[in-house]
Parts: sequence; structure tokens; C-alpha cells
Amino acid sequence: MNKSQEPSPLVAGLTCRCPRCGKGALFDGFLTVRRQCDRCGLDFSFADSGDGPAVFVILFAGFVVVGLALVVEFLYQPPFWVHAALWLPLILLVTLWPLRAIKGLLIALQYHHKAEEGRWRHGDTP
Ligand SMILES: [Zn+2]
Repeated sequence: MNKSQEPSPLVAGLTCRCPRCGKGALFDGFLTVRRQCDRCGLDFSFADSGDGPAVFVILFAGFVVVGLALVVEFLYQPPFWVHAALWLPLILLVTLWPLRAIKGLLIALQYHHKAEEGRWRHGDTP
């Protein structure tokens, strides 16, 4: 496939689609990456997002939830059960929902920029 025909890594990643064709599913289940694309056959063995998606989600969720909890506490001083009723569902929403999309985005960016683990080539001096 021509590089100019490939979908935007932003669109392919956030929609959890294959970074080369933009049509095949990237995941088999919630966060398990498929072995290869079911449309174009791209081998997904290069995909290794590591802890990146979790780090971004934790930073985002912490900012949103802790910020809102502090604002509510300082303005209204509600009882503890109100905090639990408000923030526990919000924590699930702002952590689980974006995790899949962020993982897809990082894998699509990894493919787009050909990012991989550094290796010594024959003849390189350490
Ligand atoms: Zn594909």
C-alpha cells in the first residue's frame, strides 16, 4: 500500500483500526492486539505501546477527578458518600473509556514513524 493512501494515524489510532489500511480491527477483545490485520494482513508484532497508554490515562484522570473533587469539597463540603457516588463512576469513565483509544493511537503513531527498539548494526562502534 502506498504511504499516501494510509489513513491518518490520529484517525486510525483513535478508532482502533489498522494503521496501514484503516479498516481492519486492531484489537481482539478490550486491549489485546491482534496478530495481524484481517483486511490487509499487516503483522502487528511491531506493536508495543508498553505502559504509555496507562501513563497518559492516569495523568488525565488524576487531573480531572482530583481537580473536580477538590472543587466540590471546597465549595460544598458534602458527606463522604456523595464523593464516592460522584467520583467512583467518573474514575471508571475517564480511565477505561480512553485507555483503548490511547493504546490504538500510540500503536498507530509507532507504525507511522517506524519507531522501534534501538539496535546495533554491524560495524557500529559502541
Ligand atoms: Zn490493515
